[in-house]
Amino acid sequence: MELISPHWHIEFYAPDEAHMRGIVSIYASEKTAFQKVEIIQSSHYGKCLILDGHMQSAQLDEFIYHENLVHPALVSVDSPKKVLIIGGGEGATLFEVLKHPSVEKAWMIDIDEHVVNLCEKYLPEWHRGSFRDPRTILLFEDGRAFLEKTKEIFDVIIVDIPEPIESGPAYLLYTAEFYQIVADHLSKEGIVVLQSGCSAEKELKCLAAIHHTLRQVFPLVYSWPVNIPSFDIPWSFTMASKSNDSKRLKQSQVDEILRNRGIRDLRYYDGEIHQGIFFIPKYIRMALNTNLEIIMDNKPLTYHMIGEEKNSE
Ligand code: SAM
Repeated sequence: MELISPHWHIEFYAPDEAHMRGIVSIYASEKTAFQKVEIIQSSHYGKCLILDGHMQSAQLDEFIYHENLVHPALVSVDSPKKVLIIGGGEGATLFEVLKHPSVEKAWMIDIDEHVVNLCEKYLPEWHRGSFRDPRTILLFEDGRAFLEKTKEIFDVIIVDIPEPIESGPAYLLYTAEFYQIVADHLSKEGIVVLQSGCSAEKELKCLAAIHHTLRQVFPLVYSWPVNIPSFDIPWSFTMASKSNDSKRLKQSQVDEILRNRGIRDLRYYDGEIHQGIFFIPKYIRMALNTNLEIIMDNKPLTYHMIGEEKNSE
């Protein structure tokens, strides 16, 4: 067995911390109008989508990311009909959403048509044809611009975008102003859910700022850590609502909802895991309660790489 790969993808988490992935082959490596996109075959994790140098999802464990992002929120809403995904490139979020039989329309609004086309071509294991599902409305524009002009009200809004990299396309979708626009487009029982970045002990500033910013708009906000091995660092998700408290759902109720909706193929999420969302480590709870930064359009949270967050004045 070859121990040393001749080609590596190196992702820096801090100036002195990095993860190296041995590359078996490269499917795509391009610069789009919005970001650098790479789709590689890594020896350990299978196919990987990498944007601006950061891992987005890997074949081996994308189910952990996408099941956390989608099912806790959709299960918490009775009969969700209209779901909006902002971002979502790979199509796996869309695929998970469409498992809920009550969903009549699923909008996916991604800013980068080129990335979605590459994902459709090279990552069929992620989207499994969901871009072509008759319930899908796939549009290519900035997610915030779409929300600002649409008159639709959604049962669930899923914000599946990359971290707020300073030069990237996503940093204005983490602000209090954006979350107010989201709230204005949610039904009374509606829930917004997002990936909220790293939850490692030294790197909680971003998660805490997102959590606290959401609390300016929504009375109910829950953040929970998740281990996604291909990310190499602990990750997090956050959901928020005006009045729908996901914590009310007991283990047996979640399992019954999944059964009634005919969803039997999940590998991570079930009633037991749903309970875990509300029991998070003390150091994270403390960070969420003490870091009271609010992200604003004129004071966005941006960073070059993890460990280098900074506020641009
Ligand atoms: N799984 C990912 C992660 O770990 O962060 C995020 C999923 S996905 C690949 C991110 C998608 O968000 C990309 O396809 C990108 O084009 C899209 N995106 C970035 N900024 C956006 C914006 N302002 N509006 C809509 N889509 C956006």
